[in-house]
Amino acid sequence: MIDYHIHTSLSDGSGEHREYYNEALRLGLSEMGFSDHFCLRPVPWAMGLDDLPAWKKRMQRVRKECSGSCRVKTGLEVDYFPEREEELRAVLDRLPLDYVIGSVHFLGTWNFDSSPDGYDEWDLRHLYEYYYNLIKKAAESGLFNMIGHLDLVKKFGHRLADGLDEIMTRTLEAISNAGLAVELNTSGRNKPCRDFYPSYTLLEQCYQLDIPVTLGSDAHNPGDVGQHFPDAIDMLKKIGYTRVAVFEKRQIGFQPIRVPQ
Ligand code: ZN
Ligand code: FE
Ligand code: FE
Repeated sequence: MIDYHIHTSLSDGSGEHREYYNEALRLGLSEMGFSDHFCLRPVPWAMGLDDLPAWKKRMQRVRKECSGSCRVKTGLEVDYFPEREEELRAVLDRLPLDYVIGSVHFLGTWNFDSSPDGYDEWDLRHLYEYYYNLIKKAAESGLFNMIGHLDLVKKFGHRLADGLDEIMTRTLEAISNAGLAVELNTSGRNKPCRDFYPSYTLLEQCYQLDIPVTLGSDAHNPGDVGQHFPDAIDMLKKIGYTRVAVFEKRQIGFQPIRVPQ
């Protein structure tokens, strides 16, 4: 199994690469990917442009030092801003990356997953439309290999009563047409929504649209690596997935789903 969503102390995680790697070895993972936050807007939880040279050096060293049975991949979790696509493309094109996770953590200037208070100011349907439109644009931008935590907007438990609506379907179609993967991100299980990102229903839709899936814990501590993976693997199999997507130098490949010992 793989864990492609891991944050170290280079962004807002609290462990060093080696500690995460040891955990991955202990769990018998075949691959792990470091995906520290990179954001063009200055925020305390992400690396900015100035941090990239040190990140690059560290990743070179980590890949040499972590040479056990688990393969290390170089990723980033990158914030999507529709008005800054070309700027972002120029940055990402120059980096030695295996994959880029495209994430939406901002609705306008509101960092919605860090400040739950803001929900009161929105009509829920409008909020969902706004959010999924951004995800759709992110998919169409060609900047990313996969979409991060597809339905993060539900994090604090704000859900649309009627579930899947047209905008979500249009978004999934855009993801499918662009050939992107989605991640099954297990961290939501610990959040007020108490659910994986994406939900079962949404991931079923992804499967029907032939969207490849990766797996990520969104670890911010070494102990989070592979969190809830037995349940996640059950869910993938139940839906029909037999393989997970892996990435190397931004090219997709596949690996059969195996349960870690
Ligand atoms: Zn984070
Ligand atoms: Fe995120
Ligand atoms: Fe993350």
